[in-house]
Amino acid sequence: MAQLPILEFPDARLRTVAKPVAEVTDATRRIIDDMFETMYAAPGIGLAATQVNIHQQIIVMDLSEDKSEPQVFINPSITVQGEELDSYDEGCLSVPGFYESVERPKSIKVEAIDRNGSPFIIEPEGLLAVCIQHEIDHLNGKLFVDYLSNMKRQRIRKKLEKQQRG
Ligand SMILES: [Zn+2]
Repeated sequence: MAQLPILEFPDARLRTVAKPVAEVTDATRRIIDDMFETMYAAPGIGLAATQVNIHQQIIVMDLSEDKSEPQVFINPSITVQGEELDSYDEGCLSVPGFYESVERPKSIKVEAIDRNGSPFIIEPEGLLAVCIQHEIDHLNGKLFVDYLSNMKRQRIRKKLEKQQRG
């Protein structure tokens, strides 16, 4: 396994739209393992392949406190969005150090494929629903800062660019 470098906002590669995985192979599983290692080391609770410059529809997640609940979503799609909205303070490994409130549907229905190539459906609420929506946004080239005001987003962009220049 290997840790992969994480792209940071405003890197243009984060705007790439990921392609569906045609077939789940050992190569896919190697990517997944590397993504978990990268996410746990960061540390973070979710990572989309886009963030490590791999433009395939793969998400890894673990909301537990002891790395005991790894979850994989390949080719995820949201098939139902609840009408009720909820807001959470979201952060992102690609936008380090910033947390902002984002409003999203509170409950969703998601179809995806697991690491063995088997399809599954879940209907998450709360933090899991937030996390999945945040990560699916990444696969579509979208970041949580896109939900903020222009002014806020520019402020974050300037601070991160300054940090990145060192
Ligand atoms: Zn993120």
